Amino acid sequence: MRGKLVVGNWKMNGGLAANAELLSEIAAEWRPSPGRDLAVCVPYPYLGQTQGALAGTSIAWGAQDVSEHVSGAYTGEVSAGMLAEFGCRFAIVGHSERRQHFGDTDAIVAAKARAAMAAGITPIACVGETLAEREQRVTETVVLRQLDAILSALGDGAAELVVAYEPVWAIGTGRTASPAEAQAVHATLRARLARTGAAEVPVLYGGSVKADNAAALFAMADIDGGLIGGASLKAAEFLAIARA
Ligand code: PEP
Repeated sequence: MRGKLVVGNWKMNGGLAANAELLSEIAAEWRPSPGRDLAVCVPYPYLGQTQGALAGTSIAWGAQDVSEHVSGAYTGEVSAGMLAEFGCRFAIVGHSERRQHFGDTDAIVAAKARAAMAAGITPIACVGETLAEREQRVTETVVLRQLDAILSALGDGAAELVVAYEPVWAIGTGRTASPAEAQAVHATLRARLARTGAAEVPVLYGGSVKADNAAALFAMADIDGGLIGGASLKAAEFLAIARA
């Protein structure tokens, strides 16, 4: 049976002092239980600090992106092998902010997912439609196109993936998909995953999840937890979401 997973995405936020406080609060307050996992994805420079704070706890950590390349003349890039050296369990790939601002195409996202997997890191692959695409009623086409690119790059490895459905119009806007709207897309994603032998892949929801809407979203049949942006920067709010 699929468990529940809540992952914090700090985005480009943090600082050594603030991180130390946040990480120690989360580590002190989180009570592990079977089938419920918690993780934080932090900016690259804070991976060492995060590893130091969370090693030996039940909380996992990861990065917010990864290079599609293994090594070499790629100034500014960070390889999956480097992330593995810092104990990363996860790497987010295809976040809409990367797709929007940094030109990550479906092909690049798929290559990043493959690079992560090859280094033993679980990619958290984000898919989601823009508001214009939702209004044109092409949500399913968009998210399945994004997912298919990743599934075909991973082949048999797809069973080890985590997928996050993040409607672009709900990210950082305070506007959340209703549980029923999210569930409809999750069911579509689940059906596609099942057809490729990856039915047990967790499908997270992301987009303005807060302590007061998390329980209703996570109660949906095909929503296996959340990818949490802004609300993951406050320990109490993040833990309340994780407990939901
Ligand atoms: C995200 O960054 O993945 C996200 C879902 O952000 P927020 O929760 O702030 O909408």
